Formats: sequence, structure tokens, C-alpha cells
Amino acid sequence: MEMPHPSGRTPVALITGSATGIGKAIALQLCEDGYDIAINDLHEAPSMAVVEEIRSRGRRAIAVCGDVTNEAFTTEMVERTVAELGGLDVAVANAGINIPKPFLDFETSDLQKIFNVNVYGLFHTVQAAARQMILQGHGGRIINAASVGGKKGVELLSAYCATKFATIGITQSAAMEFAKYGITVNSYCPGAIDTGMWEMLDETIGGFRNVARGETVKKRIETVPLGRMGLPSDVAQVVSFLASDKASYITGQSIVVDGGVYLS
Ligand code: NAD
Repeated sequence: MEMPHPSGRTPVALITGSATGIGKAIALQLCEDGYDIAINDLHEAPSMAVVEEIRSRGRRAIAVCGDVTNEAFTTEMVERTVAELGGLDVAVANAGINIPKPFLDFETSDLQKIFNVNVYGLFHTVQAAARQMILQGHGGRIINAASVGGKKGVELLSAYCATKFATIGITQSAAMEFAKYGITVNSYCPGAIDTGMWEMLDETIGGFRNVARGETVKKRIETVPLGRMGLPSDVAQVVSFLASDKASYITGQSIVVDGGVYLS
């Protein structure tokens, strides 16, 4: 679907952590929605594979590989997106990591590692994107990866939950500050989504609980009213909505996509 855009060009979306998992699904969905796409991730080869997939669907795409924990890189990432694709209209701060551990085993280095990506990396991505959108002067959409773990504590995921509660705070505050520029800021809060992150959680949490591989996922699915694990595309469709004109009066929200586990 071609969308009319205030600048007269094709709208551009940048998605961090989009070589795999939820980020990749978001990139492919926004490509279907008519955006040119900047892929960011740590690794060149899987990023280029997504770029090629998008190009084969007739859209422009680039890979801007690098680590979002490097503040200077987040500025460069936006600058390269603008230089090569012509602007920035949607920024999805999706890159995130998880470190499952019993509360008492967390060391400062674990906390630094997870906060560097999930909080500092996300915060600097939001700053760099908002600066560019304010400069362009026609608003924009910033969409952050939170989690149901940002609404409610989860056993063995205390550090992760701390970063995702932080993400919801960042989302709400940024939404208030950027509303006057026509920039909306929202987050998505996935439940258990079938990606590499959940494969790791199944194995690690299963190890802590002394249960076989697959058991942790199986137990989790039993708690889901809709009866299945989420797919990356389930999340990507919510991001598609938040990026669209249909969501122009929604800001500061953190939308749960978890098959009905967490109700509010
Ligand atoms: P994933 O591990 O499958 O993919 C994350 C991607 O981010 C990877 O490609 C990785 O290389 C990239 N990445 C990690 N650190 C980075 C960095 N410093 N700079 C740039 N890229 C980096 O994870 P996913 O399941 O697709 O999760 C995506 C987002 O959704 C994360 O923020 C995660 O916390 C959140 N989330 C996931 C789930 C789930 O069940 N999978 C649930 C709730 C929230």
C-alpha cells in the first residue's frame, strides 16, 4: 500500500535488533505496509539477509549494523538512515536481551549488561530518532519493545523486568514531551513469543528448575487463554497498527500482546 507522506517521499522505518525474531517480523510487516526499511543489528550476515528479502519485495532497504549500547552509534545509525533513505518516520527500539537468574545470583556486571542494551540503548535510540523527527518537522512514530515483564514481575527475570518497567516509564515520559511535535511514543508488551530469546529462556529456566528442554514453554502455554505461544507476526501487526494513521490519537501506551495472560 503506497502511503501519501508529508515530505512527498516513501516513508522510512528503522528497526533495531531486526536481523531475527520479533524485529525481523516488524521489518517485513512495515515493508508490506509501504515503508523503506533500515535494519539494525549486531551482525552483518543475518541483517543483509533481511535487507535482501525486503529488496526482493520491491522496497529500498539498508543494513546499519552496530551496537545500540554505543551512544555515538545510535546517532550515526539515524544519520545513515536519513542519508541513504531520505528521512526517518518510524523508529522501533526493539533490540533487547534477557538474563534469567535467581535474584540473589545477579552480579553488578549482569545488571550493567542488561541495562546497557534494554535501557541505555533504547533511551539513546529514542533520543536520536526524536531529534531527527523534530528536525524534519512533520511528526513521527517511536515504538519501543517493552514486555509483560514491564507490567508485572516474573520469577527468575528480575533484572529483565526492571529494564522493561523502565521502558514503560521512558515511553510515557517521552510521549508527553514529544506530543507537541506530533511524535507519538508507544510500546508493545509481548508475552511468550516463539523466538531465539524464548529458546534460551526455555533452556536456562528449565536448567534452574531441573526440567527437560521444552517443559518450560509447555507449562507457559498452559497459562495462555488463547492456547498457543505468540508468533513474531502477532507482535509485528500491533506495531504496524501503532505506526499507521489509524493510531494517530494513541500515545504513551504500552500494549500487551500475550494471548490473554495479563489482563488490565
Ligand atoms: P531475539 O533475541 O530473538 O532478537 C533480538 C535481536 O536483537 C537479535 O537479533 C540481537 O542480535 C539483537 N541485539 C541484541 N543486542 C543488541 C545490541 N546491543 N545492538 C543491536 N542489536 C542487538 O529477541 P526477540 O524475542 O525477537 O525480542 C525482541 C524484543 O522484544 C526484545 O526487546 C525483547 O526483550 C522483547 N520481548 C520479547 C519477548 C519474547 O517472548 N520473545 C517477550 C517480551 C518482550
